[in-house]
Amino acid sequence: MLLNVKNTTVMNPLDWLAPHTCRGCGLIGNVLCARCKKYISTNFSNICPVCKHEKSGLKCPHCPDFPECFCLGKREDILALLIHDFKYNSTRAIGVTLASLLAERLPDFPENSCFVPLPTSTRHVRERGFDHTYFIAKRVAKKKHLKVKRLFVRTANTVQVGSDRNTRLAQAEHAFAINPKVAINENTTYILFDDVWTTGASMNAAIKKLRDAGARKIVVTLLATSSLD
Ligand SMILES: [Zn+2]
Ligand SMILES: [Zn+2]
Repeated sequence: MLLNVKNTTVMNPLDWLAPHTCRGCGLIGNVLCARCKKYISTNFSNICPVCKHEKSGLKCPHCPDFPECFCLGKREDILALLIHDFKYNSTRAIGVTLASLLAERLPDFPENSCFVPLPTSTRHVRERGFDHTYFIAKRVAKKKHLKVKRLFVRTANTVQVGSDRNTRLAQAEHAFAINPKVAINENTTYILFDDVWTTGASMNAAIKKLRDAGARKIVVTLLATSSLD
């Protein structure tokens, strides 16, 4: 437990009181045991969030307009449990584990790439005590020896959970904007990160805003794809 302190910056006090148990099998010791970690690595594949096809490379052959993308898998099974526990119980140790699962599967990117977390609503940050999207992006970026940049600023404090698909699509376009203080460089690879793709409204809005601002190299990274249906 003490060894985790360096990686988690601020520990949830509850983490100190009870030992972690593996969310997959209940084994005491860690939030994800080695066997369950291997299960995720071998049973979850990189899925295109747009057409849901499994793919081996970053580019989806069916979706030419969508950027290169890596997604850990569908939001189901143990991956769904981990994401739920991280987001709604704020278990930081799970965030650390999810970040390492993603970092291990990502290829190396050019040196001038940067990770860009999609902005989280301030209400969620307040409720959860931290920005869970930034939390993971920061750790993945560190493991890949890259910077993390908060490129987007929220312009509306809309919360997407529970909104229907059409409402989400309409809200996303106006929910955030590129920080006017940040210059977009056409030679930089912007690695967008969000935890879960549901309708894709937020991610598609982010891609469009970056492209409109002059970005030429965009990669999308996700923990999981889900659907409202
Ligand atoms: Zn396990
Ligand atoms: Zn596709």
